[in-house]
Amino acid sequence: MGKETLSITETRDMMVAVADKIIEAEPILTDADRALGDGDHGVGMERGMNAVKEALASEEFPSVGKVFMAVGMAMMSSMGGASGAVFGTLFRSGGKAIKDAEVLDAAGIVAVFKEGTEGVMTRGGAKPGDKTMVDALLPAAEAGEKAAAATVSEALVAIADGAEAGKEASKDMIATMGRAKTLGEKSLGKADAGAVSVAIIAATMRDFAA
Ligand code: ADP
Ligand code: MG
Repeated sequence: MGKETLSITETRDMMVAVADKIIEAEPILTDADRALGDGDHGVGMERGMNAVKEALASEEFPSVGKVFMAVGMAMMSSMGGASGAVFGTLFRSGGKAIKDAEVLDAAGIVAVFKEGTEGVMTRGGAKPGDKTMVDALLPAAEAGEKAAAATVSEALVAIADGAEAGKEASKDMIATMGRAKTLGEKSLGKADAGAVSVAIIAATMRDFAA
């Protein structure tokens, strides 16, 4: 059946599960970034997610939005670099969109992905097709909106499907942003590292709410 909504505590626990899954996936993210970038994405995300776990353990949150905002702040201040800014923005902008909500419902999680994606695009300047995390985020947000789900668990099924499809589609894109840009057509065939992270994040959220 899956959860209708998530409480503040459940939302926090879901983000701890996300942090654990990303930390566990460090070798996968390292390999993905080694293929197309400089190989530091796994270690950077691991550092960010350790900071997230610390932040989530040390504070009480008045709303579900503030949980996501704390995730973004922790990533931004611990990771540095391009991905610290963009992943931090994802959760900060996403959380801001529902900042006073006391439960996370279907519309809330869709708003997190929609506003988070817009924040990333504004901040980082990547457009769809540039072979970045945006190529997993945008289809995730759009799938969530289109599903018009009744429950948070249904919304997350659509969001995770969209993220996974977007990650797969990024294999057929030629990088035009960041470090992978110099590879040109050699960037074909492999998924963008940030898109791999987004797919793992969305799948972990889906499994938590199931
Ligand atoms: P860095 O690029 O500083 O080495 P990471 O390796 O941790 O940082 O992260 C790389 C990922 O960050 C890319 O795979 C891409 O998905 C994402 N990324 C980097 N710059 C941008 C940007 N301007 N807009 C959106 N995503 C970006
Ligand atoms: Mg890198």
